Parts: sequence; structure tokens; C-alpha cells
Amino acid sequence: MKALLMEEYKKLKYVDFPDPKLESDHDILVRIKAVAICGSDVHGFDGSTGRRLPPIVMGHEAAGEIVETGKAVTAFKKGDRVTFDSTIYCGKCFFCQNGQFNLCDDRMVLGVSCDEYRRHGAFAEYVVVPDHICVPLPEGLPYEEAACTEPAGVAAHAIRNTPLALNDTVAVVGSGLIGNLVIQILRASISGRIIALDTDVSRREVAKSFGVDAALDPADPELDKKIKALTNGRGADRVFEAVGATAPIKTAISVVRKGGSVTLIGNVSPQVEIPLQAVVSRQLSLLGSCAISGEYPIALDLMARKKINVKPLLSAVAPLSEGDAWMNRLYNREGNLLKVVLIP
Ligand SMILES: [Zn+2]
Ligand SMILES: [Zn+2]
Repeated sequence: MKALLMEEYKKLKYVDFPDPKLESDHDILVRIKAVAICGSDVHGFDGSTGRRLPPIVMGHEAAGEIVETGKAVTAFKKGDRVTFDSTIYCGKCFFCQNGQFNLCDDRMVLGVSCDEYRRHGAFAEYVVVPDHICVPLPEGLPYEEAACTEPAGVAAHAIRNTPLALNDTVAVVGSGLIGNLVIQILRASISGRIIALDTDVSRREVAKSFGVDAALDPADPELDKKIKALTNGRGADRVFEAVGATAPIKTAISVVRKGGSVTLIGNVSPQVEIPLQAVVSRQLSLLGSCAISGEYPIALDLMARKKINVKPLLSAVAPLSEGDAWMNRLYNREGNLLKVVLIP
């Protein structure tokens, strides 16, 4: 088959690659119809995260059609349209037994290679995945949109893990792909005000198109005043942070009310600086949210019923053979791209 292989850091090559084979009776061979480039692939591209050790076929946000199923597979058959969890979890450990598949002790992420494992991913014509991580696609949902189920699931997971009340005022820091998905799912879920915060004016415009009540620049010297005006002088009840660096996390902490919570989804910087006194003396809850555990059907249903729309977030849909050029554009932050989907 053809695959996009990272032979060395910052170099993707469209190559002939061995066809993946079913290794267990519960395995499924999927022909990839669309695969999205994740921010974590872009950050892994230069080796800075240590999570994409070459050689590796990256890609974990994908959808496709089943071409072969193992003998023990009963829930799926050849020809079914599916997506799959980015995490291959064991189903047996303490965390899996608690329904926290994202925290599995034996967790392996597709398209990731680190010191513990190497699992080639979906930047390829075919991939093999176990049946328990597959999810059927709703009828009519195009593959390139279905490839965004994983980020939509990440957004849904963060929201499910946040103690939200119906009329809470919520601020979302970072209007990139995940931030905008958080905004859309919140808009479909709660009645309170939603405030987007992003330094980039074009991203604030995207957030506005999804119905936020205000889109503000964190660098605005009047920010505090504007936030107070929107929140009865208190600050936002809940804040989502979808960047993962010191400055946006400080912004998130500065706009939340006393006793409120900040849900941390962004994961760019391994270490950040936190204003400790503000967190302690204002009694804030900082909540980490990782990946997905069970939110795939929710994300798919929201997309199928058009409660969320990923189409405006797709900056480009391009052939897999052009993957290197698109990865470089994303890496060099050319043209403010949100999501790039590749078609094998
Ligand atoms: Zn991802
Ligand atoms: Zn497990």
C-alpha cells in the first residue's frame, strides 16, 4: 500500500509500505477514506514531543470502510463505514474497568512511537484496528467530516468533565480547532453566555460565526473590564483552555470567577508557569482533560444532526501524496490553517 512515512524528523515521504495484516480474531482492516492532521502530529514532526520517533506512519483521526474482519468480529462487517478511537486500550486494567479508557495502563495511540511502543497510524491506505475501538458512522456523514470525530470527541470529553450548570457563563481560551469545537458543543448544550478569547482576529471571526456572545482579544488592555461587564462583575463561571502554554493559561486564570474552574485541554508546552496565589486564594479548580472516553457516539450524533458543523473548520482537503507539503505549511503556521484532511 501507499503510506506517508516520516523517515526522519521534518521529512514525510509518500512510499510503498507493507500492507497491515489482521493479527487477532478481533482485528479489523479498514481502508482509510480520510485522515486529518492533528496538532499533536505537527508538534511531533520536529521531535520536540518525543512521541513520533522515526520511522513512523502518523495519523489517528480517520474514517474509512471495512475491507476485512477477524473471525471473532460480530458487530461489524465488510463494507461498513467506521471511525475509530485514537487510543487502543486494553479493556481489562483498573482504569478501563472504570470506563476511563483514555487513562488505560496499556494505552497505545495510533500513529505514535515513543520509548514504550511504535504503532503505525492512518496516514496510509489501510490500517488494522481492534473491533472494540471502532464506531459506526451515521448515514450520510461524509468521510472528511467523520475524520474530525476525534477532535470533536476531545471537546465533548472536556465538557463532560467540567461541572457545568445550565446558565453558566463560559469563556473559551483559544479559537483553534478544539476551541471552536468546544464552543459549538457548548452552544448546543447550555444557555449561558459564551465568550471566545483569541489573539488572532480571523480566529475570533470563526468563533463569532458559531454564535459566541463575545469574541475578545486577550491582549486588550480593557479585557478585565469587558469580562466583568459580561459576567455580572464576577468573571466566567467556567473556562476552557485549548492552547496549552503559559500566556493563554494565565489568561484563563485571569478571567475565571472566584471558586470557578479552568479545564485544561491544550497540551503544547510540557511545563507552564501558573499564578499560584491566584489559584489558591481565589479557590480555583484546575482540571486536566485528556483525549476521549466514550464520547465518539456523542460527537458523531452531534455532527450527523448538524448541531455541530466541522465543515467551516476544514481548511483543506488534499491527496495523501501531498502530505509533506501540507504538514510543512501547518508546521510553519502558513495561512492560519485550522484542519487539513488528507485523502489516501
Ligand atoms: Zn488528535
Ligand atoms: Zn486498560
